[in-house]
Amino acid sequence: MSTTNGSAPLDSEIRDITVIGAGPVGLITAFWAGMREASSRIIDSLPDLGGQLTTLYPEKWIYDVPGHPRVLAKELVDMLREQSIEQFDVPVHLETTAERVEYEPDPDDSEKQILRLVTDRGDLLTRTIVIAGGHGAFEPKKLPGYDMSPWEGRGAHYLVGEKSAFAGKKVVIVGGGDSACDWTLNLLDTASEITLVHRREGFRAHEVTIREIEQAADAGKVALRVPYQIKDVSGTGHIQSVTLFHSENEDDVVELEADAVLLQLGFKTALGPLKEWPLEVQKGAIVVDPVMKTSMDAVWAAGDITVFDGKLKLIATGFAEAAIAVAQAVHHIRPEMKIQPKYSTNTGVPGAVEGQP
Ligand SMILES: Cc1cc2nc3c(=O)[nH]c(=O)nc-3n(C[C@H](O)[C@H](O)[C@H](O)COP(=O)(O)OP(=O)(O)OC[C@H]3O[C@@H](n4cnc5c(N)ncnc54)[C@H](O)[C@@H]3O)c2cc1C
Repeated sequence: MSTTNGSAPLDSEIRDITVIGAGPVGLITAFWAGMREASSRIIDSLPDLGGQLTTLYPEKWIYDVPGHPRVLAKELVDMLREQSIEQFDVPVHLETTAERVEYEPDPDDSEKQILRLVTDRGDLLTRTIVIAGGHGAFEPKKLPGYDMSPWEGRGAHYLVGEKSAFAGKKVVIVGGGDSACDWTLNLLDTASEITLVHRREGFRAHEVTIREIEQAADAGKVALRVPYQIKDVSGTGHIQSVTLFHSENEDDVVELEADAVLLQLGFKTALGPLKEWPLEVQKGAIVVDPVMKTSMDAVWAAGDITVFDGKLKLIATGFAEAAIAVAQAVHHIRPEMKIQPKYSTNTGVPGAVEGQP
C-alpha cells in the first residue's frame, strides 16, 4: 500500500482553501473543505502524504483514533487519502514548500483580497490558507563523527518507506531511542540479519520495547553492539561492510557484512520558512484563537503546529481543529454560509464522486 499520491502541476486557479501540510490534519482539512463545497488544494515539502505517520511510524499501531480500535499509521493515511483527496479530487503538490504570502486584490471583486502563496516551485492563488504544518519540515539528524552522505541512496537510509526495501538484507540499525528499537523489532520478519548499534550503554526506549529487544538478542535474532560507533563503511557502489569501534576503546574494532545501514538518530524539526511569516509564535508553534485563527488575515491553523490554552497534540484533536478552521474559512469567503455544518447524515458527501448517497 503506497501513501504516495503523485504530485499535480501547479495551477493558476484561485482555490478557496490552500492547505499547507499533508499530514493527517492537512488531509482531513481538505475533506472538511469538500464537505462545505469549498475548493481546496494541499502542498507538502515531503515526497509522500501522511506527515509524521508516514515519516516516523508507518508500521506502528495507533489505538486512540476514535472509531478505530487500532489502525496502522500507514493505513490511516491511506484511508484519509481516500476520504479527502480521492473523494473530492483535491490537487496535491508534493515536494513543494510554502515560503511566503502576499496579499493582492481579488481579480473578481476589487473590494476583496486574495493571497498569493509563494512556494519553491511557483505561486498559488487562494482565498484563504489553513496551515497544518505539524512540527514544520523534518530533517533527519546526521551521524556525528562519520560522514554517511556518500552512502545515501547506496544502502544508507534515514527513513523507512516500505519494509520490503530491507527484505532478505543484512541491516545495521544505528541509534538508541524508540525509533531505532522499534525498527529493530519491526524488521525482524523482513531482514535476514539485524545488528543494533548504539554508542552508549543502555537504550532510551519504552521498557517493554527494550525487553523485547533483549529477548530477540537472547534468541539470536538480533546482534547488539553497545557501546559501539561507526568507524568506516565500504563497498563497491553499494554498502557491503561496516566497521565499528568500541566507544571506550578505539582499538576494539569489529567488521560486519552489511547491505543496508538504517540511521535512526531522531529528527530536527523547525518552522522553516513559516518562521518569517508575520505570525504570533510561541515555542515554535503558531498561536491561534478559539476558532483557530492566526494573527494573519485569512490564515487559520490546525494540528500539531498550533498552540492555545489546553492544546493537545493528538490526531483526534487535530481533526476537530481542522473542522473549526474550515468552517471559519468558508464563512470568511461566503459570509452567508453558516458556521455550523449540516449533518453528513442529511447531506451525504456534496460534490463527491457519483454514487455517494
Ligand atoms: C512516534 C510517534 C507516535 C505517535 N503516536 C500517536 C498516537 O498514538 N496517537 C495520536 O493521536 N498521535 C500520535 N502521534 C502524534 C501525531 O503523529 C501528530 O499529532 C500528528 O501527526 C499531527 O498531524 P499534523 O497533520 O498536524 O502534522 P504532521 O503529521 O507533522 O504533518 C505536517 C506536514 O506539514 C508539512 N510542512 C511543514 N511545513 C511546511 C511548509 N512550509 N511547506 C510545505 N509543507 C510543510 C510537513 O512536511 C509535514 O508533512 C505520534 C507521533 C510520533 C512521532
